[in-house]
Formats: sequence, C-alpha cells, structure tokens
Amino acid sequence: MQDKHAILKNHFGYTSFRPGQEEVIDAILAGKDALAVMPTGAGKSLCYQTPALLLEGLTVVISPLISLMKDQVNALEDAGIPAAYLNSSLSQEAYADTISRVVSGEIKILYVAPERLQKGLPPQISLSREIPLTVIDEAHCVSQWGHDFRPSYLQITEFITRLPKRPITAAFTATATGKVREDIIRMLNLKEPFTLTTGFNRENLYFEVRHPKDKFQALLAELQDRKNKSGIIYSATRKTVEELWGALGGRGYAVTKYHAGLDDRERHQNQDDFIYDKKTVMVATNAFGMGIDKSNVSFVIHYNMPKNIESYYQEAGRAGRDGEKADCILLYSPQDVHINRFLINNSRENESEKNEELIEHNLELLKEMTFYATSQDCLRSRLLSYFGESAPHYCGNCSNCNTEYEEIDITIPAQKILSCVYRIEEHRRRFGKTMVIEILRGSKNKKIQGFGLDKLSTYGIMAETDAHRLRTMLDYLVTGKYLGITEDEYPVVYLTSRAQEILREKKSLSMMLPREQKHPKKPFPAAATPATAEAAAAYDENAGVMDEGLFTQLRDLRTRLAREAHIPPYIIFSDASLRDMCRKRPLNRPAFLDVSGVGEIKLEKYGEMFMEVIKNYREA
Ligand code: ADP
Ligand code: MG
Repeated sequence: MQDKHAILKNHFGYTSFRPGQEEVIDAILAGKDALAVMPTGAGKSLCYQTPALLLEGLTVVISPLISLMKDQVNALEDAGIPAAYLNSSLSQEAYADTISRVVSGEIKILYVAPERLQKGLPPQISLSREIPLTVIDEAHCVSQWGHDFRPSYLQITEFITRLPKRPITAAFTATATGKVREDIIRMLNLKEPFTLTTGFNRENLYFEVRHPKDKFQALLAELQDRKNKSGIIYSATRKTVEELWGALGGRGYAVTKYHAGLDDRERHQNQDDFIYDKKTVMVATNAFGMGIDKSNVSFVIHYNMPKNIESYYQEAGRAGRDGEKADCILLYSPQDVHINRFLINNSRENESEKNEELIEHNLELLKEMTFYATSQDCLRSRLLSYFGESAPHYCGNCSNCNTEYEEIDITIPAQKILSCVYRIEEHRRRFGKTMVIEILRGSKNKKIQGFGLDKLSTYGIMAETDAHRLRTMLDYLVTGKYLGITEDEYPVVYLTSRAQEILREKKSLSMMLPREQKHPKKPFPAAATPATAEAAAAYDENAGVMDEGLFTQLRDLRTRLAREAHIPPYIIFSDASLRDMCRKRPLNRPAFLDVSGVGEIKLEKYGEMFMEVIKNYREA
C-alpha cells in the first residue's frame, strides 16, 4: 500500500511537502471537507491528487477552463496517474471511450467542466464508481466578490447533491479575502471544513514597481535583459495587447497574444504556442492565465496597473512556479488609476443597492492597489499585509528595498504640506496634487496668480524641495490618511481629521525616502570602464557557460520529446528539474532519482535518454 510520501516521490518526484500540503491531504484522508487558500504556484493540485490516489474510487475535479483540462490530464498521465476529462470538446467517440475507461475502474481522477454540471455525471459512472472526493479548483469563481465570478459554478452544490452518496468536498483558491472565503463555504455547502490559509509569501519572486516616462521603452529594456526567457506581459486593453504584440514582433521577439476579442481557435493556438515554448513571450489581457500551470514563466510584466491586489498577485504569481527566481514588474502611470476607476464606475448594470455596494467595494480595492504602486515601503510587506500577514519592513528582494532608501523624519515637511492644504481650504478652494505641489514650491504658474494663491502664507515654503520628492511625501500623507483624495473626474486633495495629529498634536512622522545624492555619482575613469566591463563579461561567460551548455542540450531533448508526445515541455521536466540535473549530473538510476521532480515513473520513461546526454556532455 502506498502512502502519501511514496506518492509524492514516485509520481511527482519530490521529497518533501510544501507548507500546508500535508495538512490538507491529511484532513481529506480523514474524511473532512476542506478549504485551502494558498497563493498561486504554492502547489494546490498535489493536495487533491495525492488523496485521490489513496482513496478507493474516483475523484471528480471541477476546474474552470475546458481549454486547459487536456494539459492537466496530460501532466497526470505523464506522472503515471490515470486521468481523463469530460467536456464539450470531446468527439462522440472519445466521449464514449472516456466513459468506458471510467466505468472500468481504470481512471482515478476525472476532470469535469463546470458547464457540464447541469447534466450531472453520466449515470453509468455514478452507478458503477464510488466517488469519495469532489474537488473544486479555483473555488473563488463561485463568489461575486471574487474577480472571476462564473455563473456555472453556482450549479456545483446541486451537482454534488445528486450524487448517490455525498463525497468529501475540497475547495481550493488563491483568493484570500474573508468575503470570498465565506461565500465559498456557504455556496459550496462545505460541512465544517478544515480550513487552511498558508502564508502568501513567495520567496523566489522579486517585486518591482517602476514609474517610467515612456512605458514602451521601459518594457524593451526589461525584455532586452531577458532574451530566451519565457514571460507574460499583461496590459489592460485589447488594443494595447495588439499594439505591443505588433511592436515586439516587429523587433524580432517570439511573441504571441491573447485576449477575449480573438476567436476560440486563435486563442487556443496562441495559448498552446506559449505553453509549448514555441513562443517565449505572451502579451495578454487578464483573460489569460487562469488554470495555466506553465512552470517556467520567469517574468510577469504588468504594462498597466490591475484593478486590485488580488488580481495583481494572482497574475504576477504565475511567474516562478517551479521555485526558480522570477521577476514581477509593474509599470505604473497615474493614467492606470483613471482608467480603472472609469471601468469600475461604468460596471453599473443596474441601480440596485447590491450593485452600488459592489462598486464601492471595488473602488476601495483599487485604492489599495494604487497604494502598492506608489508606496515607498517594502513591496513584499505591502502585499503580505494586504493579505493579512505581518511581514518585516525590509525583504531585500524588491525594488523598494533594493534602491537605497533611508528613513527620514518628515515631520516638518508634513506640517508644511498639511498647512498648505489647510490655507487653500480656508480660501474655500480645493485643488489636485499637482497644484498643491506647485503652490508649495512657489511656481509662477498663471493660474496660481490668477487665484491669488501666491498670497498664501504657505506659498513657496518648500521651494528647495525637489518636486518628485515632494509628491512622494504628499502621497505618503494620503496613504497614511492624513489627506484624502476625492474620486471625481478631477480628484482634489482635502484635509482629514487625522491631519490634526500632526498640525496640533505635533505628532512626528517619518518615512523611507531615496537617499539624497549629496555628491553626484562620479563617472568611471574613461580608461577603466571598458576594461572592467570586459572583464566582467568574460567572467560571466565562463561562470555560466558549462551549465548553460548542458542546460541547452537537456532542454533540446525535452523539446523533442514533448513535440513527439504532443505535450508541453514543462510537463516532462520543469526548468527547475533540468537545472538540478545540471548541478548533479547523474549517471546512474539512483542518482537520477535524486533530481528534484524525478520519480520512479519519470525515471523509467526518460532516465536513460537524459543520462545519455549528460554522459556525452561530461566526456566532451
Ligand atoms: P497552484 O495550483 O497552487 O497554483 P500548482 O499545483 O500548479 O500550483 O503547483 C505549482 C508548481 O509547484 C508545480 O510545478 C508543482 O509541480 C510544484 N510543486 C508542487 N508541490 C511541490 C513540492 N512539494 N515540492 C516541489 N515542487 C512542488
Ligand atoms: Mg492550480
């Protein structure tokens, strides 16, 4: 009899469970319903696939996207787990064939499309097979408070009720908000579920926010550094997707695209090109990505800011699933906020109270996202605290921690900024941030003189402060709720009651600000520069060359095998596994088994071929 550790090693090739996995598996095996909230890439699939192999009977998995079921089933089959799917893409013959394989007891895990739930399981199946476990993947799709609501998910409980015997029900999601969690438990009728929320930290991800003047140039620069790496570029609209796709393609990048305006066939084809590594870069709207388990995505660049942190973290989290280092970069501009606000406000379907509440809720979430994009704090700690986790203020692996910031006492500047807004309000006026900054810096702007604002006692009191730095401080006061911003077409700044803490109660305030350059950077001595650069390049090349050479050969073998089997390359071995092979260079079976991601099944299937390449490489 196999146990969970044997399954982990033999089928998945891993030696230890990741945080949370074992607890969920144990709960399910003990017969309890379960709700597991784990971030994208944490390894949720294994939490239900392992018990599915240990429980007597058939596990039914409801998963949102028909187009990806095939890949999920391929991956299981390649790990030696008999699996199949039922959805509308199957021909009549294939459908009948699948049913007979399920009925015969061969299949252990059956994926079912939510659209099919209305019809229930074919009676042959429910009569012949015991169903100990139903799994709902991406369970947040059942909630209107989530970001991917799917009406077909509402039929799940009825589907379960119609089964001859109620199975253990386990729901999985990466969406952490309390409202969504409550909805999942209620709408799916989970019975006193074992609930687990793992930490949301993904250590291998590097987070960066940039505020480039020219986003496209910034994007090109990022891509330049990542030639041959697989990545996703998200942008807000179909139009931008098309433009970026054209512009990058024209520059020779192997790029494909995905958005809801493409027909099914093209979407499918493009998605496959990306998953099968035929194209390295995917430019897409947020329509792309759910259920995509491609493990070797090494960067996710957001060309526009998404509408909330949940979406951002889910999309960004598609990088680095294999545990390798990966980058999540957000290219922010204030325009992104306006567009999102416009879209949210225009999502008014009807005037019902529920709808108004939803819009309010969404605007609030947008605000949190904007804080992330404009924050000077550690980005990781911002994300984690949004998900209700406490985190150190310095992670050392995000752009804010890496740019040299220092803590600066801003009590006096804060008093000046707040008094300026106070004086403006005394004048019975309100202005946007830019105007406030111009007044503080004593701008000669005609509008300021026209309104007589140059007569304010606070006019020009921060003339010495750099405009960008001043804006950063002003934003910080907004984040801290000392100032508010209205949500109209022309947002204006106003004083909140909290401002009194600083103006009257003389509370002190400090924040992380970029170190001021007291001595401008000295350029390198002309002669030294090329020499140093050359030396550095030579060094890099030597350090990387051996492993990269072997890596490339192993990757080519993987590509060939994947083409022959019509499965995505990462299903055979993840990049992480190939890297581990480069490090360990195994030449016999026990050594090959020691590679992360290699179990008995993969050893049998692929061991000889990969060891052959390693052997030849070593000899050469
Ligand atoms: P999720 O559904 O939570 O987003 P997946 O189930 O797709 O994540 O898993 C993400 C990646 O993590 C996959 O490549 C999977 O093989 C890998 N993985 C899962 N569990 C482990 C483990 N215990 N050790 C190492 N890698 C794991
Ligand atoms: Mg998943």
